Formats: sequence, C-alpha cells, structure tokens
Amino acid sequence: MLSIPKYEFWFAAGSQHLYGEEALNQVAEDSKKIVASLNENGNLPYKIVFKEVLTTADEITKFMKEANYDDNVAGVITWMHTFSPAKNWIRGSQLLQKPLLHFATQYLNYIPYETMDFDYMNLNQSAHGDREYGYINARLNMHNKVVYGHWQDPEVVKQIADWEDVAVAYDESFKTKICRFGDTMRNVAVTEGDKVQAQIQLGWTVDYYPVGDLIDEMDKVKESEIDDEYADLKSRYIMVQGDMDAKAYEDTVRYQLRQYIALKRFLERDGYTAFTSNFEDLHGMKQLEGLSAQLMMRDGYGFAGEGDWKTAGLLRIFKIMTHNKRTAFMEDYTLDLRKGHEAILGSHMLEVDPSIASEKPRVEVHPLDIGGKDDPARLVFSGGEGDAVDVTLADFRDNFKIVTYPVIGHKAEETPHLPVAKQMWTPKPGLKEGATKWIHAGGGHHTVMSFAATEEQVRDLATMYGVNLCDIE
Ligand code: MN
Repeated sequence: MLSIPKYEFWFAAGSQHLYGEEALNQVAEDSKKIVASLNENGNLPYKIVFKEVLTTADEITKFMKEANYDDNVAGVITWMHTFSPAKNWIRGSQLLQKPLLHFATQYLNYIPYETMDFDYMNLNQSAHGDREYGYINARLNMHNKVVYGHWQDPEVVKQIADWEDVAVAYDESFKTKICRFGDTMRNVAVTEGDKVQAQIQLGWTVDYYPVGDLIDEMDKVKESEIDDEYADLKSRYIMVQGDMDAKAYEDTVRYQLRQYIALKRFLERDGYTAFTSNFEDLHGMKQLEGLSAQLMMRDGYGFAGEGDWKTAGLLRIFKIMTHNKRTAFMEDYTLDLRKGHEAILGSHMLEVDPSIASEKPRVEVHPLDIGGKDDPARLVFSGGEGDAVDVTLADFRDNFKIVTYPVIGHKAEETPHLPVAKQMWTPKPGLKEGATKWIHAGGGHHTVMSFAATEEQVRDLATMYGVNLCDIE
C-alpha cells in the first residue's frame, strides 16, 4: 500500500532590526496567525510549523541547515513581512537542499488609508521585501515556488496545498528504487535513458534483476495465500469466466495472483516502489504480468511495460503527489482523426491502472497475440471523464525533459474484440496542435495520465527537478 511519511513544512518570516523589538514581535504574532489559519482552514495535506523570525545571516544559515537535517521536514516556506536584506539569505539558501516556497503575502488584504502611519509602513513591507528576496532566489537559481496573494484567499491556499504534495513527492523521489525485470524492449529508443543521471537528478535508484529471481519468489508462494487474494479479488471485482472452463479460468487468475504476491514480497524486501517488465524477457514465466501489474498499481506502485523505468518512476512520483487517486500508466494506442471526434484511445496490452476506472472492473482471460505466452488474466474497464494531465519524461542526454499537456478524458466506445481496459482523451490545445507539439518535442508514447494532478503541479515538479519542460498549452 502507498504509505507516505508524516512530513511537515517549516515556516520562517524574514525581517531585520531597523524598527526595534516591538516590530519584530508583531512579525512573529502575525506569522503565527497566518500559519494557524492555513493549518486550520487550508485543507493542507501536510502541517506547517512556524519556526522563527529570521533577521541575520547566521540565523538564516542555521535554520536552513536544520531544515536539511530533519527528515520530517519536506520543505521550507518563507515570508518577507518586512524588508529582509537578501544578502543575509545567500549562504543559507545556497545550503538548502529541500523545496522552497516564497509566500508573497501581506498581513492585511487592503490598505488602511484612514489609520496608516509610519509604524504601519515600517511593518508592512511585503510589497518591496518580496522583490528584494525574489532577486536573490532568482540569482541563486533556487528553483523555488512563488505563491502570491492573500493568505485567506482559497485559491492561494490551494496553491500551497498542491505545492506541498509536489514537494513531498520530490523528497520521496530521492528514496525511490525502481526494479527492472529484464532490460528495455529491443530496438526501442524512447524507453532508454541514463540511469546514473536519473539518480543524480531525480534521486531514483534503477536496478536490474533477472526474471528468474521473480519466478523463484513465485515458487515460494503458498496456495493458501493465493486463496486469500482470490477471495479478495472476488469481493472487489466482477469475475467473468466467459466461455472458459471454470478450472482453467481460476488457474489462470491464480497464476496472476501468485505473481502479484511474489512481486510485492520481492519489491518490499529491498524497498523498491516501482518496477518494469518486458514481454521479451519472460523465460520460465507462463503469463506476462497483467492482472498482477494492475493490482500493484492499484496499491500505489509505479509500473511501466517494455522495461520503461522512466515512466515507472514517474508514475510512482505522481501517485505520491496525488495520494494514489485516479493516476495511471498510459499509452497512446490509436486515433480518431475525424473532425469533431478528435481523440486518442489509450490503453496498454494489459497493464492499465484500475485507479481510473469509472465502473467496476471485470477479471477476464483472453489471448494477448504477443510474447508467445499463455493467455493472461487482466482487469477490463472503461476509464474516467473530465480534466486531466498527460505527462512523459524523455532523456535528451544534456538533460531530461518533461513533456505535458492538459487533456479532457472521455469514456471509450465498447470494443468487443479488444478486451483491455481503455481510456480516451483529447488534448486541450486540440489533437492536431497538441500532438504535433508533443511529437516535435520528442515526447514518448508511454505517459502518466492523472485526473488528480494539476498543470501547475507538473510545472512545479519540473522546476524542482531542474529538468527541461515542454508545457503544451
Ligand atoms: Mn507500451
């Protein structure tokens, strides 16, 4: 199951000593009120903790070092209530290794024309304090987020909440381990990539294991464990035997459950949270992972087919970001190019994540026509409707590139002779324009499609990673 540590975010206000202790006390009071309001009303996924008002370079440096070393801290939020000379921030900001959100807000959301005086002016300086602080972040290339607006504005609060989810996904990214059973599919280019650079820049450990190690693990699974999973499967999904013999159907499904139990055990033992398979490397395996891979994705594991570890890792990161809601491995499959109907039908041979299902999935067994193995069991269902994002990660040697566009998801028509789970979508810029730009940018056919992540979150993730972004709007 997807389990995320109980992270928190540290909040600090920037100021200086020019206006005396009274002003600094007010800065602290106002900061506490803002943090309390965000925590109580913000529907934030992770708590914000007010730490202190920072006025000197030494304090700022100490604060950033402590944020780095505390494993519970997923990121830092700063607010320039007054003017905070930004040279003081240089050393500390350079040392910070976690995501930074510059909250450009002001205590009051209006100008108190009748009562304002020089004390007010001294204290409420976000308008220019934010520029001073922003200059140094830009100059240091901090990859930070700026959220601008009043702290009680629901839109502003939602931006903070969404950013928290990205920051946690980024922190978790550096603990992500991806297990490849077999290599990438022969002759395919887009699934390749520099695994060392992925570890440096994205934090992913990408390891290889022979599929025989997984088969050994499958041999150790007890029939009673499969009985329990079979009962669970029956309680959640519709079992469709079709014209198969009852025993043959059950045996086929049970083989996938044996794979599922073994996969989980194998990955959990060494902390892997994403994996790939390759239908060209199944020596000794009777069925390609179908239902088993779908159940793993349901549980929050990252996955992609054909050895595509980049998409497997990306799916895991998006599942953390979205708390495993409506986020799936997807593949551009076939097109409807008729005017007025423009859409992409997405699917994969088998491995479509049931988190996007809009109906109760059916457990079915059908031939695969690829790989030369036994007919695999899989979940068959129709995907979701509504706003979503489609995202891919490519390796261009000089840097990784995230290619993305917003899409609208539709339900696919019935396909009685293609018994796989399906998702249909149209890029919001239009199929012709969106797909042209995608192809030009070199984005692949394997993607992460999410009805839960936002375009802003995709941009924030690319910024945190320092990867190139092709944002097709
Ligand atoms: Mn594929």
